Amino acid sequence: MTTGLAASTFLLTATLAWSQQVAGSLDVHWNEGASDCGATSQEALQVHQYEPQTFILRQSPCADFEANFIYLLIGSNKALLIDTGAVADPKTMPLAKTVLELLPEREGKKLPLLVAHTHRHLDHRAGDPQFASLPSVEVVPFDLEGVRAFFGFANWPNGIAHLDLGDRTVDVIPTPGHNPTHVAFYDGRTGILFSGDFLLPGRLLIDDAVAYRESALRVIDFLQTRPLTHILGGHIELNAAGRAYRFGSRYHPDERRLELERDDLTALPAAFERFNGFYARYPNYILTNPIRNLLALVFIAVAVLIFILWGVRRLLRRRRRV
Ligand SMILES: [Zn+2]
Ligand SMILES: [Zn+2]
Repeated sequence: MTTGLAASTFLLTATLAWSQQVAGSLDVHWNEGASDCGATSQEALQVHQYEPQTFILRQSPCADFEANFIYLLIGSNKALLIDTGAVADPKTMPLAKTVLELLPEREGKKLPLLVAHTHRHLDHRAGDPQFASLPSVEVVPFDLEGVRAFFGFANWPNGIAHLDLGDRTVDVIPTPGHNPTHVAFYDGRTGILFSGDFLLPGRLLIDDAVAYRESALRVIDFLQTRPLTHILGGHIELNAAGRAYRFGSRYHPDERRLELERDDLTALPAAFERFNGFYARYPNYILTNPIRNLLALVFIAVAVLIFILWGVRRLLRRRRRV
């Protein structure tokens, strides 16, 4: 094969890969919770069909302030559920029931389901017990050893694992930094990166800044040769003007859109290089280290206390002299 022919074949293959992405819709208004959750009749779980084989489920901020996004990807042999959200009780949050209703049947039986997590934080796996005793459902363990063993990562956090759902491949990319067990999922069918708490329109809570930056570089490198339509994370914590909701708020009026784009990802390594270790504001996310901020607050509180005690002692001494 001549170089020219090889190059044009490559271009053609690349173009085909780009054009093969299944388009979907994010034209949806997510439940915003309420200032008085007791007086609202909002559904606990909102279902949006992105395209016929991809569903986005959103837990109402009234059901839990975390208001998690959960994703259901359907292949021809298997379906994948990414995260199980913040609510365990099936009566208040009918997650397993809703997911089973969405699953298509094959040869008279529901399609087998794999339940995986972006990471082990409870708001991403509290719904696991709802799936525990269901037939044809497998739940991936949430501890690091279990994640590594299940996906076959021999050299964590390096390497990429692949899930074959039948005519649909999902790549699993280790992304520790927010949490040591964090992974992101890249769906070849839609070109979406499901990023969990690694990248979302809100607070990027940093546990390990070095690992976080390396994860960003790993994902950027992985996506360099792949189409990326959207980055969809686990929460929305900003309003349309970019202001963060108070932590724990069950009311999200005028929410920012869920999706982030490639530029948000590519800006991440430099954001970490400039990070002062406590807090940094960007248009679509906030870098923050909650433990360090807490330690800084404790330090300030202790300093203020010492100052007050010193002042009181001085005052008492003066009075004694008078
Ligand atoms: Zn988390
Ligand atoms: Zn979370």
